[in-house]
Parts: sequence; structure tokens; C-alpha cells
Amino acid sequence: MSKRLFIPGPIDVSQDILDCMSTQVIGHRGKEASQLQQDISEKLQKLFYTNSTILLSTSSGTGLMEGAIRSCTSKRAAVFSCGSFGNRWYKIGISNMIPVDLFEVDLGRAISPEMVDKVLSTGKYDLITVTHNETSTGIRNPIEAIGEVVKKYNDIIYCVDAVSSAGGIKIEVDKLGIDICITSVQKALGLPPGMAICTFSNKAVQRAKKVPYRGTYFDLLAMYEYIVSKNYQYPSTPSLSHMFALNFQLNQILKEGLENRFARHEDMARIVRNWAREHFQIFTDENYLSNTLTVIKNTKGISVSNLNKELQKYGYEIANGYGGLKEKTFRISHMGDYTVDDVKSLLKNINEILGFKTDLSLL
Ligand SMILES: *Cc1c(COP(=O)(O)O)cnc(C)c1O
Repeated sequence: MSKRLFIPGPIDVSQDILDCMSTQVIGHRGKEASQLQQDISEKLQKLFYTNSTILLSTSSGTGLMEGAIRSCTSKRAAVFSCGSFGNRWYKIGISNMIPVDLFEVDLGRAISPEMVDKVLSTGKYDLITVTHNETSTGIRNPIEAIGEVVKKYNDIIYCVDAVSSAGGIKIEVDKLGIDICITSVQKALGLPPGMAICTFSNKAVQRAKKVPYRGTYFDLLAMYEYIVSKNYQYPSTPSLSHMFALNFQLNQILKEGLENRFARHEDMARIVRNWAREHFQIFTDENYLSNTLTVIKNTKGISVSNLNKELQKYGYEIANGYGGLKEKTFRISHMGDYTVDDVKSLLKNINEILGFKTDLSLL
């Protein structure tokens, strides 16, 4: 039975998009493929509020995280982490023999601009990574204020993991001075998993030119050069099926209107948070709450896995806590094409299972 997935990716994919995925393939070196990639790129530039080049990757988002830190660290990278996905950058750096240091804050807390300033003032670093929306703790880091700090330093490549936020939360890449902003298609963009996207600034291009060993598959400079010199092509064979679907979905997103889409995410988040405050507690620092998922502290000591088993009988699924936060927290995502009514249906089912009485119309 198919379920409604309220886990932080992948999420339900609409039938229209699934139909696009089954479009007959085309040659990836032809004009039609170039046109498709160009169309997608121009729409993504709107979504990211940027003039930077858009790179597509046939991989999930982690591939482009590896590509970013490997292609653009020339001196030393500083990884700022507030959870599991932040730590992933560090692991990627170490396993690629990139000089890298990890700066962590407690789970449920955000990275502060002051912390970034202090680290950058040492002059040791030329690339930083920040997770916009930490999916393990529900933190939305202040990438705007961090961007202001980064602007004080000349030589820093500012990388942002926006995997679980892009398409659901506004990210003005150029205004914030982000050089590489990464996302995956299976989260707030609502596509099947298998493609990743990043923005790639001129500053990042110049940096990558100075890095001799960038690998092959995730060499961001190679991806960039294929776009520039071969008119929007991809170094190997891209997932054309995803590209058809992405082009279609971006039309839908722009038709909805970016501001409307972001507001819808905020509405869904408000409802889930109010419900969570009534029956449990929010795990995350209230000043930095994500609009695409809510991480709830399991103050009632319920069995999250049992709840999920019961919920699946209704055709719904939520997520347990991530890593060490399993059973201590649980996570409800509210991203992609879901509506306020979808979220209320989910909460109504949870209420029934747990015997809660909430007037959902008041949330
Ligand atoms: C899901 C997620 C990732 C990993 O993305 P993949 O597409 O699975 O590689 C990285 N960072 C964050 C914040 C995520 O939510």
C-alpha cells in the first residue's frame, strides 16, 4: 500500500511528476537536452534568487557536498555543525584528505554568527560549510547573519547545505553571498530521489581552478565548464527522466508563486508546532525553528516506533528521531506539495491513536 510520507524526504510525489519521469529518453548530447538543462537552470535561478550558474548532478545531495568541499578547498575548511548532517561535511572532508576542522554546538542549538566570526578571524580557512536546515534537530540556522560575517573576509567560499529547505524556505543566494548552495530533489522540491542541484558562483569557479585534485564525478569545475563551453551539457550521462520531471515541477512551483509556496510551508509548520506544544514539547531552540520539519521532544515517553506502526494502518508515516535522538524525539516533515489540510489529516490520525483531543481548527 502506498503511504503518505511525512518523513523528511523522500516525500509523496504527485502523479503528474511520476508521469513525466516516464517520458521517452532523448540523446544527452543533442540540442533538445541542452535546451532542457537551460530551461531548468533559468527556473532554478529564480528559486535561488541568483545569477550564479546552476549545476545539476545525477546523485543525491551528498554527492554535491563532496564535490563542493573537494573542488573548492585550497587552504583549509571550517565545518560548522549542529547535528548529523553538519557532521557529514566533516566526514566527507576527512575521507577525501581535505584539511578540515569541525566546530560543533549542542543538539537543538543553532550556529551563531559570532562563532563563525571568531573562527574566520584566525585566517586559517578559505571555505566554510553551514547546514541551513539541520534535519536531525529541526534547526534553521541564521544563514543571513552568518553571510554578513562571511562578507567581512575576502577569501572564503561560503557553502550551504539547503537539502531539506530549498523550495520550502526562501534562500536569497546572491544577497546572502552564498557561493555554493546545495539541494536534493526529493525533499521540499517533491521529486523522486536521484538528482541534486547546486548554485556555483564565479568566486567558486576561480577557486576551483586553483585546486589541482578535484576528483572526477563530482568535479564541480568540470560540470561548470560543460555548461559554458558545450551549451548546457553534463560531463557524463544525466538522469534525463529527472530533468523532465524537474522542469515540469519548477513550472508548477513558479505557477504557485514562490512567496505563496514559502507562506504555505510556514502555515503547515505553525500548525504542527502548536499541536506539538500542546501535547509534547518542541526539541529545538524556539528562535531557530525550521519551516519544513518539526522535531518534537518525546516528553510522554511514547513508543515512537509503535505510533508509526499504528499510523501506517491509516496510510501515514512520520519519522523517528535521527541517530542518537531516536525515541527521544520524533520528526514530522511538512514540505513539498503538502497542504494545511494534509497536515491536519495526519495530526487527526495521531490524535486518534494516542487518545488526544485537539480542536485542529484552532491551530
Ligand atoms: C537529506 C539530507 C542530506 C542528504 O541528502 P541526500 O540527498 O540523501 O544525499 C543532507 N543534508 C540535509 C540537511 C538533509 O536533510
